[in-house]
Amino acid sequence: MRTFYYTFGCKVNQYETENIKETMLSEGYELTDNYSDAEICIINSCTVTAQSDSKCRQLIHKIKNVNPQCIIVLAGCFPQAFEKQAGNMEECSIVVGTGAKREIPSLIKRYILSGERIVKISLRTKGEPFEKMENSGADEKTRAYIKIQDGCDQYCSYCIIPTARGHICSKPLEDIAPEVSRLVGSGHKEIILTGINLCCYGRDFKNGTRLIDAVEAACGCEGDYRVRLGSIEPELISDEDISRMESLDRLCPHFHLSLQSGCDETLKRMNRHYDSAEYRNLCKKLRERFPDCAITTDIMVGFPQESDDEFHRSLEFVKETAFAEAHIFPYSRRPGTAADKLDGQIDKKTKHLRAAKMSEICAESKTRYLKNCVGKTFEVLFERETSPQWHQGHAPNYVTVRIPRESESVSLKRQMLKVKITSSDSEYCYGEPAD
Ligand code: SF4
Repeated sequence: MRTFYYTFGCKVNQYETENIKETMLSEGYELTDNYSDAEICIINSCTVTAQSDSKCRQLIHKIKNVNPQCIIVLAGCFPQAFEKQAGNMEECSIVVGTGAKREIPSLIKRYILSGERIVKISLRTKGEPFEKMENSGADEKTRAYIKIQDGCDQYCSYCIIPTARGHICSKPLEDIAPEVSRLVGSGHKEIILTGINLCCYGRDFKNGTRLIDAVEAACGCEGDYRVRLGSIEPELISDEDISRMESLDRLCPHFHLSLQSGCDETLKRMNRHYDSAEYRNLCKKLRERFPDCAITTDIMVGFPQESDDEFHRSLEFVKETAFAEAHIFPYSRRPGTAADKLDGQIDKKTKHLRAAKMSEICAESKTRYLKNCVGKTFEVLFERETSPQWHQGHAPNYVTVRIPRESESVSLKRQMLKVKITSSDSEYCYGEPAD
């Protein structure tokens, strides 16, 4: 049976879809990237914002319109967080929450035999074991994600993820190196460690295991590869972590430190567990130990009760921190979160004006960061040819680098080459192979 897959949201979701796909392929299901001729469509949903829910619904309606006979499987965070709404989506033959994704192949078999609609959403409980998943990386990709952690207990006031993903659970430490070796063995040059709240890795083991132990395990295998960290929470990185990371040659000097706001009053209402001074101090320490490292981030604007003054303090802090890249999000109300009940919700127009202002500042910082790379030489991992003109890849600091193509028949995909940066613009660095 031809199967179509679509993933919304984060790297963890992408990893899980890959895993479902590998299992389905091993059971003889075929792949199609066109839902109009698929017999089964598996949608791995996200529910971080209201927009992600509506995009998911729109896709399901579209599929059902052009392909009414196909079996639609709706999985993941949307049904887990909003069971009633998702459960009522009759277009979906199978609806599963975040705790049962690995059962999708067997649930499809059951549905095909019985024809009875299946809704399987169970409450996520504390102490649930980590859902054992390992991807073989049979894809042709250059970079591979490894999900080492799931769940979150931080309860930031705007965030629905703890409801969707449940409590913290971690991949057994001894399972990390074998998966890295397999992925490196199948030609991947970069391994990205990812999770829902990566920094909480190992807490559920209650034996002092921390994220840094997982990073060292991932960096300790044979082969020509490098390791990148997914998004990390500022308050959970210690001085000892920084020292141990500094000694790992394979670790990419790129830290995605989620800020959300540069204003302490707003951070308090967000129930974030650090203030701007602590964030500033951490950035200073990282830049001292990893010169030229890239610090990237997520910033939310228009959080309830965010006054003009608070917004400007956030803007000034972001300007001062000079991020290499930033993702800007206008606050999105999520039923079931503490922030949804706050008065002083900000109107849409103001949110978008603030997002535009913040994006402008961050674009300037990014252009400056790229300019500072000129004259430097980086080991670039080439991933694709973007046009007849360019080979394109990423440097360890996650800067996108382009070098001219000599001939259209040559691909540098999956090659790691030293590149001297000769120029930059607002998006890319440009260079030439270094001797
Ligand atoms: S740390 Fe906060 S924002 Fe991140 S997943 Fe947990 S609750 Fe959500």
